[in-house]
Amino acid sequence: MRGLLTGATHAQRAPLMSAIFLACYSYTGALLPNLIAGQLSHHVGTVAIAFGHGGLALLGTAIVLAFARDPGRRPDRVEPRPYRSTARRTTLMEKLPAKDTFKGPADWFTGDVYGSPIYSGTDPNRMTATLVRFTPGARTHWHRHPLGQCLHGTDGKGVVVARDGTVLVITAGETIWTPPEEEHWHGAVSGQMMAHLALLEVDDEGGSATWLEPVTDEEYAAAMAIAVAH
Ligand code: MN
Repeated sequence: MRGLLTGATHAQRAPLMSAIFLACYSYTGALLPNLIAGQLSHHVGTVAIAFGHGGLALLGTAIVLAFARDPGRRPDRVEPRPYRSTARRTTLMEKLPAKDTFKGPADWFTGDVYGSPIYSGTDPNRMTATLVRFTPGARTHWHRHPLGQCLHGTDGKGVVVARDGTVLVITAGETIWTPPEEEHWHGAVSGQMMAHLALLEVDDEGGSATWLEPVTDEEYAAAMAIAVAH
């Protein structure tokens, strides 16, 4: 019996103690009226029975609470709501299938560049997000974006270069904005990989870039001379 009271869990003990109490209460409740009615007047007996039942109810409740309480543990933890399977959920969010990484075409890039498409919005959403990885020395051709472009570095070291000779170094965590129609190129420095997120919007015709001539080795070397100083 002791093991039953101390070894059982709260969930096991509470219904057991409740059952014991109810059995005792029912037995006493049936016995008392007969005992009292045989010795006292009808009205006094009725009042006594009422008080007797009330007292027994309070006593039983106290006993159940005392034994059901688990002094060594906090109250039973509320388990977190389990994740719902995708079949039952009611949200509209969705995990999109991964898209294949593509090799940057020679019409747009010099050297080995790989693009991993992340997202292309469907009307009215015009967002395009691509993770672009440049091997050492690889770079885009000169180009411009009709609605501008946000570049966010995720790895390595690279440069973003404008026609006037401005060279901005981009490393992981840094963000560079190129305004609409500003001609520029971006790529890895000569000794390191570089990866950035390319974030932009397409125009009314669905275009996101106008590609121009390749960056010459001389232009690239001039940018590197500035980049190494950073
Ligand atoms: Mn660009």
